[in-house]
Amino acid sequence: MRSQSQARRTQTKIALQERARVVKGQNDLWAQIGNTPLLRLRRVAQELPEGIEVFAKAEHLNPGGSVKDRPALAMILAGERAGLLTPDKIILDATSGNTGIAYAMLGAARGYRVALCLPANANVERKRMLRLYGAELIETDPQTGADGAQLRAQEIAAREPQTYFYPDQYNNDANWRAHYEGTGAEIWTQTEGRVTHFVAGMGTSGTLMGIGRRLKEHNSRVRVVAVQPDSPLHGLEGMKHYATAIVPGIYDPSLADAQLEVATEDAYTMARRLAREEGLFVGISSGANVTAALRLARTLPAGSVVVTVLCDDGARYLSEHFWEEKQDD
Ligand code: PMP
Repeated sequence: MRSQSQARRTQTKIALQERARVVKGQNDLWAQIGNTPLLRLRRVAQELPEGIEVFAKAEHLNPGGSVKDRPALAMILAGERAGLLTPDKIILDATSGNTGIAYAMLGAARGYRVALCLPANANVERKRMLRLYGAELIETDPQTGADGAQLRAQEIAAREPQTYFYPDQYNNDANWRAHYEGTGAEIWTQTEGRVTHFVAGMGTSGTLMGIGRRLKEHNSRVRVVAVQPDSPLHGLEGMKHYATAIVPGIYDPSLADAQLEVATEDAYTMARRLAREEGLFVGISSGANVTAALRLARTLPAGSVVVTVLCDDGARYLSEHFWEEKQDD
């Protein structure tokens, strides 16, 4: 009997919660972006000295499968508020893939056409995902990488300003602000203010700038560590080698307290370990972030709380061979 009335009470509670969500507009796809879990890494971190904790913000669990859902939504909303994004406009930007997937998903959900400049060698999963959401792909010379895609988007937007809304993620403050207002604030709450170090790689640098600024504002002793590929020719999808690339306008070099370089092979190894030892199927840059976070954690005193980011879902790298290599490492 008790269980029947309990079940009824639970049902009523769920119905009321559902109703509250409908009233607040929480049933929209874009309302599901953010509020991701903060996961404790245990097995890959088990060799760390006692008393050091490493956490990963699970951004791959956003509806579009990456950390870029947040800035894409923020840039779209800012464009709408400013009257620059109107229903007749096509959203156009350069992307290594994830921002594009987020724009394409949100464009479909909010009724906008989307056109994306991306290097022609972007992998098959990314291109298929973008097309299935209905986006138009403008493929650029692989030799010129992300910079080439950025220059092409700039050129098209300048030529036809009436046709396109060009958020320009590398120079748009709404990008880092999405992480300042969302991701950074969430990490502060989820660690109950115990976070001592934040470690993340940089593409546009929006993640590092937004979260870093927010955490330092809460506690100026929080150390922010920027992760970069160890060479210009690297396989850390989504990350930039700043010494040899166009530096984003939103990047402030004075924010990070330290820099760490990660080799592509090490990121591959960690991506495999995250899948096999933690059950976390995430991409290469997540592997790079966790590699850097663990390397830093080894040098820290007990009581340190290191936070990093799982940037995207592993399924968008399924066709890549690094998953199978070196089965026994
Ligand atoms: N990892 C992946 C897989 C990405 O797509 C991106 C975005 N380019 C990043 C990391 C870096 O994020 P941000 O642009 O915020 O620096």
